[in-house]
Amino acid sequence: MLVTTWVVAMMAAGVKANSLDPWIALENSHLPPHELIVESESLLAQHQQQGYLAGEVRGNVMLALAHLSLEQDQQAQSYLDRAKRLNESANSVADRLKINNLQASVYAMNGDIKQAVEAVIANLAQARALDDPILLGDTLIQYAYTMQLESQYAEAIERLFEAQQLFEKTNDHSRLMTIQSNLAIIYSKLKNYHKAIEYYRHAVEFAIELGDDFSLSIFYYNLGTAHIGLENWPSAIDYFSQAKDLSVALDDKAGVALATSQLGSVMIKNQQFTAALPLLLDANDMLTDAGSEYMRMRIKLDIAMIYAKQGQVDFAKAYISEVEWMMAQGGDDSRFPRLSLGEVYSELGLYQDSSRIFYAYIDQLNKDFEIKKQLSLQRLEVIYDVRFEKSRNELLEKENELNESELARQNQFRMILALSLILVLVFLALTFRQIRIQRAHKQKFKALAYKDELTQAANRRGILAFAQESLEQLVDTHDQLVLAIIDLDHFKQVNDRFGHDVGDQVLIYFAKIVGGSLRSHEKVGRYGGEEWLLVLPQATPDEIQPLFNKLLKAYQQHKPANLPAELVLNFSMGAVVAQCGQNESINALLKQADEALYQAKQNGRARCEVAQQGA
Ligand code: GH3
Ligand code: MG
Ligand code: MG
Repeated sequence: MLVTTWVVAMMAAGVKANSLDPWIALENSHLPPHELIVESESLLAQHQQQGYLAGEVRGNVMLALAHLSLEQDQQAQSYLDRAKRLNESANSVADRLKINNLQASVYAMNGDIKQAVEAVIANLAQARALDDPILLGDTLIQYAYTMQLESQYAEAIERLFEAQQLFEKTNDHSRLMTIQSNLAIIYSKLKNYHKAIEYYRHAVEFAIELGDDFSLSIFYYNLGTAHIGLENWPSAIDYFSQAKDLSVALDDKAGVALATSQLGSVMIKNQQFTAALPLLLDANDMLTDAGSEYMRMRIKLDIAMIYAKQGQVDFAKAYISEVEWMMAQGGDDSRFPRLSLGEVYSELGLYQDSSRIFYAYIDQLNKDFEIKKQLSLQRLEVIYDVRFEKSRNELLEKENELNESELARQNQFRMILALSLILVLVFLALTFRQIRIQRAHKQKFKALAYKDELTQAANRRGILAFAQESLEQLVDTHDQLVLAIIDLDHFKQVNDRFGHDVGDQVLIYFAKIVGGSLRSHEKVGRYGGEEWLLVLPQATPDEIQPLFNKLLKAYQQHKPANLPAELVLNFSMGAVVAQCGQNESINALLKQADEALYQAKQNGRARCEVAQQGA
């Protein structure tokens, strides 16, 4: 067992109990967080017993840090609160800054970006005043991390380089490693994966040198993710495997599960379905009560996708319904993998479900977009306020000493500051507008693809999709389904006698009157020029003739005033009944309906014929 052996060894090595040395040594020990927690708790207990206040502050800070790296923000926050309280008596400026830096991390983790930004700006100002290069360097790293979350990449990179210079002087490889990995994270976000990989490789070298296997496992994992960005599946598989092996060796269960699930995902992309399935099932088991919900959903959807591709519809549906249930419990969390869920439905041919999910996804995007907009504006306010305040004070101080040309230069600076702000705002406004326009285009395009422009009814593609879907649902509902083709009688004559425009008006009128006469779950679409397809789920054979009579009567009785009085309105219909379990294709059914229509025309028009069963 590792417990306390490390601390005991430190004691034996002659380190004074009543000093901060063991904490500093722990800081540099590169133990994985769960072991760090065990060591810190026992050391903290000793210092509590001795009433050694400075040690207690450090201990709570250390435990906050360890819990933070396990993403356990609530525990981290409670240790931080304790450290804050203890430090009110100990009153160490350096510890206060450390605590404030960690506090900013917790804010950021909770998504309180505004508070995090405010905190790191204040911390950096304090650190610059302190003349402690290590504290300044740590604060710069924290500042850069928060700026990175806020997509202020140039600013973040600049501050990381500043910290790098500080730690190169002290030859602090541990911090240099952190800086390399933070640079890599930024370049990944900028989608410059080659550069990100280069930085991760530096970080890997440091981690190996320091024996920091926990960081190493994270770097391998991130290297895998960066190779996904490059669509280099073999390398991604390689790195995730290494991350997995390391996590197994470290007994880091969450790490094993994450690496395994990524491994499975990438194998799917690499078309290795059979190999991926057992891995994903494993990861699914490992994560039943650990890991983020978001990750668990992704694994289940990956599994469902494989089953869908292998034609195991029932298995796929079982995993999908678990995910649907989780999403329903979780409200509208933007990280839920809705797109993947929609894709699995599409793969299963359940288009109604996939479009329901895609629309929910679009709604979610709209909401996120609004939130992001608000955050950006808030951030601009914060940053602009602080900077403007600062430069104004500096200006006032210097004003007396400055000669006129200097003043002019300063004015120019202020002008540039204001202009840049305006430019940023204009740029933001243009970007938002562009996104809005694109979204509108996309929706319009989507609508056009399924709608007939002249009559506004569903077009051939739209009505056939609905027919296909309704046919597939017969399996679930054990119902029957009526498909009917309507062809307007002597329509060529309408065009010839009254002109093409009148013909068009008749088509518009037909779509309106028939569309309005159908029940809400039934649908009519324009199948060809003046041919129409009716899809009537749950209709029975003996309802067909009365429905035909009703539609024809409505069509003749409500003739609009803009159509010529002498125009005679008639149509013929051919129908077919699809039964559950007969497994007939849409094409076969439509062929039968078309033959029935031909019979109706042969038998004198303005009438309806139903195809004989099995004919
Ligand atoms: P029948 O009773 O046998 O169906 O006779 P019909 O004259 O209706 O014959 P058919 O169904 O073959 O005629 C289709 C006509 O519909 C030919 C074409 O001029 C007309 N048509 C097709 N699309 C449009 C359109 O968008 N607008 C107009 N005005 N006419 C169209
Ligand atoms: Mg026709
Ligand atoms: Mg016709």
